[in-house]
Amino acid sequence: MTVRVRIAPSPTGNLHIGTARTAVFNWLFARHEGGQFILRVEDTDEERSRPEFTQNILDGLTWLGLNWDAGPVFQSKRLDLYRERVKTLIDKGLAYRCYTTAEELDEMREAQKARNEAPRYDNRHRNLTVDEIARFEAEGRPSVIRFKIEDDREIVWNDLVRGEVSWRGSDLGGDMVIARGSSGADIGMPLYNLAVVVDDIDMRITQVIRGEDHIANTAKQILLYEAFDVAVPEFAHTPLILDISGKKLSKRDNVTGISEFQAMGFLPEALVNYMTLLGWSPPDNQELFTLEEAAQKFSFDRVNKAGAKFDWDKLDWINSQY
Ligand code: GLU
Repeated sequence: MTVRVRIAPSPTGNLHIGTARTAVFNWLFARHEGGQFILRVEDTDEERSRPEFTQNILDGLTWLGLNWDAGPVFQSKRLDLYRERVKTLIDKGLAYRCYTTAEELDEMREAQKARNEAPRYDNRHRNLTVDEIARFEAEGRPSVIRFKIEDDREIVWNDLVRGEVSWRGSDLGGDMVIARGSSGADIGMPLYNLAVVVDDIDMRITQVIRGEDHIANTAKQILLYEAFDVAVPEFAHTPLILDISGKKLSKRDNVTGISEFQAMGFLPEALVNYMTLLGWSPPDNQELFTLEEAAQKFSFDRVNKAGAKFDWDKLDWINSQY
């Protein structure tokens, strides 16, 4: 089977070093395997997505030499497909309309907090009667679509970086919202986890390679693959990038946008070389190489589980060697 991987940035900000490093690992793996590297722009967040961020992301990936084989595919142009798939889940009895109000959700969370329980949706609208639905609709209550997550489900996968990972359904926060702003027969706006799975299925993605901050999403997404009766791809969760003291690299304390590195005068070959070493090391521990050389040697068994510390001195040194 041809390897097909993707980078799926959200254009809610400029190209961030974390996203760029995820793109590097996807690119290396695709090239190593003679596969395809696809670019998908996840612009369904209407309030926060901006065309200038999309442009900055495309420019940054191009500047780094991370050429893609297909795309960019824009999620905002595919909403009808996602809505259709939401309907499929409702028809299968795996998703339902939920009318719980914001106030009711607040009350629910307060009560859970008072009992020292983790916040979650208590699935109270899973089995509404026809009369209850008619009453809520008559009241004009807004609704969301929730996908059922059974508390006693165990979700296990063999992560290409982390080995066996397992989650319990009860740790996923209750039935998951997959569309919001729904009313009557209108599905409303499909949300992140649903859109990602629909696209990864549609694009025949074979390995989903992304940051470890997506691990809980992966557990939820595996349940969606099962609901759609399709094979689950492989997953690789790459380590977070930390600052030198071991804290998550944040925008506040650091330069984290690729265009900022560019403005500071770093060479793209040097920056991409350094990013390759953020969490991966080649078998010969060589430190200076082109992307093509790294691709020849790339494998997930040499990607670290622990966070990768961003070291400015090392980046400066690599930059001075080009
Ligand atoms: N759009 C997501 C993000 O920027 C990535 C989703 C994914 O890789 O599945 O974090």
